[in-house]
This record gives sequence, structure tokens and C-alpha cells, in this order.
Amino acid sequence: MFSIRAFRSAIVSKPWAPIAATSVVAAAASSYYFSNMAISNDAKTATLKGDDQWVDLKLKSSKDLSHNTKALIFELPTPDSTLGLTTASALLTKYVTPKGSNVVRPYTPVSDPDSKGEFELVVKSYPEGKMSKHIHELKEGDTLSFKGPIIKYQWQPNLHKEITLIGAGTGITPLYQLISAINKNPEDKTKVNLFYGNATEGDILLKDEIDAIAKAKPQQFNVHYFLDKPSDNWKGENGFISEEFIKGNSPAADSDNVKVFVCGPPPFYKAISGAKVSPTDQGEVDGALKNLGFNKDQVFKF
Ligand SMILES: Cc1cc2nc3c(=O)[nH]c(=O)nc-3n(C[C@H](O)[C@H](O)[C@H](O)COP(=O)(O)OP(=O)(O)OC[C@H]3O[C@@H](n4cnc5c(N)ncnc54)[C@H](O)[C@@H]3O)c2cc1C
Repeated sequence: MFSIRAFRSAIVSKPWAPIAATSVVAAAASSYYFSNMAISNDAKTATLKGDDQWVDLKLKSSKDLSHNTKALIFELPTPDSTLGLTTASALLTKYVTPKGSNVVRPYTPVSDPDSKGEFELVVKSYPEGKMSKHIHELKEGDTLSFKGPIIKYQWQPNLHKEITLIGAGTGITPLYQLISAINKNPEDKTKVNLFYGNATEGDILLKDEIDAIAKAKPQQFNVHYFLDKPSDNWKGENGFISEEFIKGNSPAADSDNVKVFVCGPPPFYKAISGAKVSPTDQGEVDGALKNLGFNKDQVFKF
């Protein structure tokens, strides 16, 4: 589902706040996240059932999207199995180190929740990153343990007339889940504004897929890419996603039933929405969205 691009470097020096640095904390994080898990809609075919079971799944294939980001396809137990995720959800991965410590980290699948027999992750690797390095080093046929789903935001078609998605780097993964679900459902008329920031054009993840959706439904999907290191022939927006841009290109805070979804590295949250305190505490709205008058109910931080 990805075009193979020459991804050169990543904008985000620290996308997503790492939830755990040690195995002990990782285990705690696992049970913390587990409390947010929910039982899948389709229990018969679902591989991840919202229980406390780790399921070992084989890596089917992987390909480089850039020098530090890979798309990885994992095989589900049978060709008819589904993963068991609803939009928007994440899952937990686990491996056991040679010394016997558990390493646990969350990731956000980008494949269609209804797809059968396999699912896909996009993972950026960090030089000292325990899980991301481990995942990048997996060979075809190797297994990784999975548990979930972790429901992040239960999407309801047409609940909001118009939403704004603001993301950076690998923070696109949950935003892309929302875009895909809305696009797939012809009854869902929610209008979507996506503002997506990266360093260079090669760092933009899922661009072909997002562009195809926006091209097919230009009245519904309004997409703007931002680069802070643009090339001379870049035709999108330059610099960071600004308060002025958000103000001029998406519904104001006093619009009817407005919602803004944000995902990116900690400095990005700080600038756009204010920090997220923990998986269960969204924290106060700060940054650009606060200046634009948005309140806590109107902003969701993934
Ligand atoms: C709900 C949720 C969903 C997520 N979905 C995705 C996803 O779809 N794709 C994806 O790639 N990531 C995703 N992440 C981030 C992912 O869970 C890990 O935090 C990330 O892969 C780093 O884990 P690690 O074990 O490799 O690094 P760790 O072992 O936790 O960190 C070791 C060292 O690596 C470096 N490091 C770790 N994390 C970062 C970072 N973010 N930036 C810079 N340096 C870092 C630091 O030097 C750190 O000391 C998600 C996070 C959350 C909370």
C-alpha cells in the first residue's frame, strides 16, 4: 500500500513520547494500556480479542520506506482472520530479551481494519530504540507478540460535521486510520482537513494513499503538507503548521460541534495543542489551539 520513496531523513527527532524505557516500566505500561483495551466487534474472526492474551504473529514481508522507516506486513493466524481493531485503535507489541526482560511498545496499524489474513505497521527505527530496532531487524518468518486492541478514540460517522487532523512524522498513523475509515464509508459525510508536517518531501508517509483519497473526494478531504526543509520545486506549504494557517483553513472554535485531532512528537504537541499527560489524561489545551479558543472537549491528542 505504500509507494517506495527515497525517504531521506525524518523531521521528528522524537515522535510520540516513549511510554517505557525499561522492561519493568514496559510491563507496567502494558497493564496500564490493557485497562483501555476493548473487545472487538467481530469476535469470531478477530485475532486480538481485547483480553490479556499475547498472540505471536509471523512477519510476512517488510520494505524500507526510508533510511529509518519500514512498512511491515504480519500474517494473521488464518486467511480469514481479521486483526480485531476498530477505528481508531493501537496495539501492543512485545518481545523478550535474551536476558528474559519483556520489551513492550504500542504501534498503530495502517491497514484496513477489515482486511483479512494480514495487517500492516509503519515503524520508524531509533538507533537506541529497543523495540523499533528489534522490529527493523526481524526477518521474514520471525514472530512478534501482539496484544490489544487499545481503543484510542471510537470513531462515529457523522458525529462531527467537520474535523481537523494535525500531525507530524509517524504521528500520521492514527490520523490515517480516521481518514481511511471515513473514506471507506460512503454514508460518512464528515469533512476532513489534514495538516501534515515533515522535514523533507521524502519524509511524508502515506502520501500517495492520502493524495488518492483527496483527489477522488476534493470536497470532503482538504489536505495540506508542510515542510520545514523544502526543495526549490516543492509546491506545498513551507515551515511549521501555524496558528494563522489553522485559523484560515479549518473551522473556528465556535463552530458547531467541531473536533481537532493531534498526533506528533512532544514539541509538536506543545506547539499545537499542549502536552498529553498520560494515556488516560489528555492534559490542558495549550499552544496554537488554545490561542484559537479551542477547549478540552474539542481537542483529542492521540
Ligand atoms: C499509542 C501509540 C501509538 C504509536 N504508534 C506508532 C506507530 O504507528 N509507528 C511508530 O513508528 N511509532 C509509534 N509509536 C511510538 C512507539 O511506541 C515507540 O515509542 C517507538 O518506536 C520507540 O520505541 P523504542 O523501544 O524503539 O525506543 P526506547 O527503547 O523506548 O527508547 C530508547 C532510546 O531510543 C531513543 N528514542 C526512543 N523513542 C524515541 C523517539 N520517539 N524519538 C527519538 N528518539 C527516541 C531515545 O534515545 C531513547 O532513550 C506509538 C506510540 C504510542 C504511544
